Amino acid sequence: MGNLTKVYQVLIVDDEPGNLDLLSRRLLRSGYSVAIACSAAEAEPVVATHPPDIILLDIMMPEVSGLEYLCRLRADARTSRTPIIMVSALADTENIVTAISDGANDYVTKPINLPVLLARMQTHLKMAALVQNLETQTQLLTKLAAVDHLTGVYNRRSMFEALEVEMSRSRRSGRALSFVMLDIDHFKRLNDEHGHPVGDQVLREFAARAREAVRPTDLVCRYGGEEFAVILPETEATQAEAAGERVRQAIGGWPFAVAGRQIPVTVSVGLASVAATYSGDLARVIARADKALYEAKQSGRNRVCVAEAESIVGAPGVSGHV
Ligand code: GH3
Ligand code: MG
Ligand code: MG
Repeated sequence: MGNLTKVYQVLIVDDEPGNLDLLSRRLLRSGYSVAIACSAAEAEPVVATHPPDIILLDIMMPEVSGLEYLCRLRADARTSRTPIIMVSALADTENIVTAISDGANDYVTKPINLPVLLARMQTHLKMAALVQNLETQTQLLTKLAAVDHLTGVYNRRSMFEALEVEMSRSRRSGRALSFVMLDIDHFKRLNDEHGHPVGDQVLREFAARAREAVRPTDLVCRYGGEEFAVILPETEATQAEAAGERVRQAIGGWPFAVAGRQIPVTVSVGLASVAATYSGDLARVIARADKALYEAKQSGRNRVCVAEAESIVGAPGVSGHV
């Protein structure tokens, strides 16, 4: 069955003009759009400007052989997945095995049996479409699994992953990183006053403002509920404190315009910075930031508190700052 919605683009590469002519006319009649090239050198610009959906490739060609060109096509990201059918007068086992193991999808021999070639082309085009769909789906699912549905920032799971990654990067690079926790002040009250849907809008706007206030390389995450976190790679405590302060002002500096209302929102910020020499676990880092956040809440909210530098807890008598 032909595909009614799409005209597939076939590229035929063959050094024999008679073959090119005959095959291209037959494929055109079968509903394909056809490009031809009589050598690898001629095929290259076609591949670059009109990426084919499928390639029919002759083996015996002067200069660059079909098998050599096959390897090049597979090494090129643009054609690494394009179905390639070798079309050759050579029918010996060795050539067929080499072509298939070098990445050809199929192998047909000359003289060409057109119905068989068409059937095989259809099969490979279908397979390629399935693979493409799967990849698109996988990409989408990967993104959905990493991002918080409401606010579009990284979710809690990604936050743990990213913190782990950044801590090992920091150990290698020798540069400190910082971890900032943000908790919206009296959010329960805001929900009670304006309703949950307005609360949701405030959370969205909050995430957007937080992202704006930090560098593009800093990772804003939703820790849960009305709590957010920012991972600041390669950032010492003093710079992180300044970043925390920027976020605090970006939230509290002017009211949130939601549902036709002007809603003042403030945030409390707790941060912990992690020295490159730190060898403890990530739960400890989060606990320090959380403790600083608690202090910010206790001392009146709408402020930034910084956790004390971590001390090494080791053998009795061993302690110090890292
Ligand atoms: P504090 O200043 O001490 O942080 O007070 P708070 O009211 O912000 O803190 P608390 O933890 O008591 O309340 C958090 C509230 O956040 C309660 C919960 O209903 C609300 N919340 C959590 N997740 C969501 C959400 O996704 N949408 C909305 N609208 N509200 C949420
Ligand atoms: Mg809370
Ligand atoms: Mg809160």
